Amino acid sequence: MKNFKAKIIENKQVAPQIYNLKFEAPKLAAEAKPGQFVEALCKGSGAPFLRRPFGVHMADTKSGVCEILFRIAGRGTELLSQMSAGDFLDITGPLGNDFEINKGKKHFIAGGGMGIAPLLFLAKAIWQTGEQAKIFLAAKTAADIARLDIFKNFGEVILSTEDGSLGEKCLIDTPLERALKTEQNAALYACGPRPMLRCVAELGAKYQTPTQVSLEEKMACGMGVCQGCPVEVKNKDTKYKMVCKDGPVFNAEDIVW
Ligand SMILES: Cc1cc2nc3c(=O)[nH]c(=O)nc-3n(C[C@H](O)[C@H](O)[C@H](O)COP(=O)(O)OP(=O)(O)OC[C@H]3O[C@@H](n4cnc5c(N)ncnc54)[C@H](O)[C@@H]3O)c2cc1C
Repeated sequence: MKNFKAKIIENKQVAPQIYNLKFEAPKLAAEAKPGQFVEALCKGSGAPFLRRPFGVHMADTKSGVCEILFRIAGRGTELLSQMSAGDFLDITGPLGNDFEINKGKKHFIAGGGMGIAPLLFLAKAIWQTGEQAKIFLAAKTAADIARLDIFKNFGEVILSTEDGSLGEKCLIDTPLERALKTEQNAALYACGPRPMLRCVAELGAKYQTPTQVSLEEKMACGMGVCQGCPVEVKNKDTKYKMVCKDGPVFNAEDIVW
């Protein structure tokens, strides 16, 4: 566990209520792996006592710059949105485990809502191996899909929205199942709201596709001390695992949905 202060380079609104925050963090950039997260201390009047977790959205070893992508959900993220270039952000990380890239597979990445945040870093890592990724992005409406142009650098992007304002008018399972039907050698990686992840897990089981999901349960300490983020698992030794320490990435078949 590493705690440090990172100088903010840019904190830019990229969609309604969604911000992309870039900061200098050479050690984090060198160590972080796709799927891992950081905990940021949100400062200001009435700031929450506990740090807030965010997936590593991007990390560049050459420049030493890391990014998080966040949506304003409450007081902490609201204060975070008010930070500017030159401010210092108190960060702990990298925390948690990471996605395992299944080499030799057709990689299907599925992100719903803010679940897209940690998947850009994964898409880049897969692209760097020279293998192909299909990136399924879904949201309620077009405005909720941020960073689309950047995702397009790392694979074919398939879009769906609930209101049909961008891509197909459907939930993510429709294009995902269509793709799974025609691809026998896929591996699935997903992050998003729990009902979506459950659905992706069911598709993974139906098409016998290895499926990893990144869970975003509410959590406090982020390092397994407070035991505040349990998830029920199918395991003969333990009934619960901690999302912060044992995850956030799990094999979908291990979770009791
Ligand atoms: C491992 C992990 C990675 C995450 N990565 C990202 C990310 O990359 N980008 C991003 O925007 N968000 C991410 N989140 C969610 C983010 O941490 C919360 O939105 C944030 O902590 C809310 O803090 P707040 O003080 O603004 O709001 P609070 O005042 O704490 O909460 C505001 C509202 O958000 C809800 N909420 C709080 N935490 C969560 C959560 N974990 N999941 C769903 N709803 C929540 C609360 O119930 C409440 O309704 C992640 C969460 C986890 C556990």
